[in-house]
Parts: sequence; C-alpha cells; structure tokens
Amino acid sequence: MSHKDLTCPMCERGTLTPVTYSETFQHHGAELHVSGLEGYECECCGADPIFDDQIRRNHARILDARRRADGLLTGEEIRALRDRLGLTQKEASELFGGGANAFSKYERGQVVQSAAMDRLLRLVGRYPQLMADLKDTEQLQGLIPVNSDSEYVDGNRVWIAGISRGTTVRGDLATVVEIDQWKRAHAA
Ligand SMILES: [Zn+2]
Repeated sequence: MSHKDLTCPMCERGTLTPVTYSETFQHHGAELHVSGLEGYECECCGADPIFDDQIRRNHARILDARRRADGLLTGEEIRALRDRLGLTQKEASELFGGGANAFSKYERGQVVQSAAMDRLLRLVGRYPQLMADLKDTEQLQGLIPVNSDSEYVDGNRVWIAGISRGTTVRGDLATVVEIDQWKRAHAA
C-alpha cells in the first residue's frame, strides 16, 4: 500500500491521517522516553497502521535515543564526523573496521556502534591527524614486524612506516626498500 492511497485498509471507509506518538521503553533499568514516532490513524475506525518506511525511521529514532542515553554518538553525529574527516562510508569502514557496511548501518540507525568504536571515532574526530596512523596500520596489516615496530618484512621487501614519502608503493605512509638494501643498511 502506497502513501498516496490513504484509505484505511481496515474499514475501507475512513482516511488515514499521519500522527506522531511517544513511547516509553525500559533501557538498562531506566525509562527511556522516545517522542516523534510516526504512524497513521484512521479517523473512522481508530486503526493505527504504521508503514514500512515509518517503521524504519521509528527504529532509527529509538536507536538514537538509546545511543544518547548510553553516551554514544547518534547516527547523524557519526555522519557529520565522517564528513568532517572527508571519508566515504566505505573508506570509513575500511579505516575504522567494523565490517563492510558498518558506517551505512550506524548512520541509518540500523546498528549501534560498539563503545570501543565510539571512542575511536571521537578520538579521531578530535585529532584528525591520527587518521595517518590508522592508514599505516591498515597498510601494514599482515606484515611481520622486524627489528622495531616501524619496520616490517613482506616477502623480499622491508616496509618502513612513516619515514619518507620517497619510494612509496602502498599508500603514501610507508617507504619500501629491498631486503638486501635493508640488510646492508643494518650490517654496520
Ligand atoms: Zn478505518
């Protein structure tokens, strides 16, 4: 049933009018009051159907209220933070982890981010330069650290994190050298 057809599906006589309502939920032992929830009401028979898109928006609203109560960022706040960092949803998911569609789900209010993810987001939101470190970590994942925590072996190459932008291969935060060259440099 589309929104244009606002004849009541129950009595087929009345017309549906959009309404908003409030509901109180139990959340971690406290009462959580959520207002602005959407539905329809039939003036004739009193039926109160809720359409799919309203259910989705209501769900997101309830999730945001829970996030606020728990001191977590809301979907809109996550979107604003990601925009400020200049990341797409996909890039943010890759950089911060959480799964392929994590940010789409957080922002649409489908899934609540973990407290750990929330803290990470706040931290990087406050200190955007930390993004460079995260990118380093992402690039160096799966490589074996050697000698110090900024040098990694991958096959016959050594990655040196955060030294120069000279001979960049993977992203622009790691310098890569041949292992022979690296051994010569460390022979002395
Ligand atoms: Zn009706």
